[in-house]
Amino acid sequence: RIVVAGSANMDLVGLAERLPLPGETVLGDDFVMMPGGKGANQATAAARAGGHAVFLGAIGSDAFGVTLNARLNAAGVDVGHVRTSYGASGVAVIMVDRAGENSILVSPGANSSFTDLTETEAKVIAGSDVLLCQLEIPVDTVIAACRAARAGGTRTVLNAAPARELPPELLSEVDLLVVNELEAQTITGSARPDMAGLLALVPRVVLTLGGAGARYAERDGRDETVPAFRVEATDTTAAGDAFTGALAVAWGEGRDLMDAVRWANAAGAACVRKLGASNALPSRSEIDALAAN
Ligand code: ADP
Repeated sequence: RIVVAGSANMDLVGLAERLPLPGETVLGDDFVMMPGGKGANQATAAARAGGHAVFLGAIGSDAFGVTLNARLNAAGVDVGHVRTSYGASGVAVIMVDRAGENSILVSPGANSSFTDLTETEAKVIAGSDVLLCQLEIPVDTVIAACRAARAGGTRTVLNAAPARELPPELLSEVDLLVVNELEAQTITGSARPDMAGLLALVPRVVLTLGGAGARYAERDGRDETVPAFRVEATDTTAAGDAFTGALAVAWGEGRDLMDAVRWANAAGAACVRKLGASNALPSRSEIDALAAN
């Protein structure tokens, strides 16, 4: 069982010829609304990848919240412990221009009320195989969730996104760190990803490399790059979420991490083949089919 403690947002995406300047109004083209937030996306990715995924988070009492809950539930995510917090859900207002450039405003809404882990939430975490967190909820909650995991023998996976520096109280609770190159640089404060620097902070690291695959390294142990699966890249949105969700599922099933990274690469590749975000997250059979290549 995988438990994801994290964010849920409604993504409101408007397309336009160009992005408006401050104070300006631009007449746009299409508009789409879709569930997002790294926590909800990775819980969905884990469920689609065949894991029993439990989502812990806070969703607003507004209409977006109803949709977010329903979509998670429909994707097979266990939402039995999700908090409903009075007020607005997390929202991301995204503007995209013709060249694909974007401007994004994230209003955390209910996500910022996900504080003070309850006893029930701590029990759910302690009773799981893997805890997966990101950094779109208050960092103290992430620390508390990791501590609850450690107390119950649950392995902790931190996808340190979006990029920020990490407090030592959090780093000391992480069993496996999953980062892209920018996140890696931000954590160690270096101009290039510094694997030795990361391994001084946590015992295991997966560094995702986009179309070049992913590198897995452990302290005093293996360090190997697993190449990506070659696919026609249509849209890389949510590739990191597909990768991380699948990785957590494979590790939770007791697979060797190198094997898990290869399978997660297949999940990431299957995701970039499709247009969209959470709707592009691959099923277990899609991942297996690609991984068999
Ligand atoms: P993020 O989106 O978080 O920056 P990456 O871009 O590193 O993450 O992508 C995450 C994973 O998705 C990669 O490690 C890889 O497995 C897969 N992936 C991303 N882009 C491609 C691509 N063009 N072809 C195949 N796989 C890809």
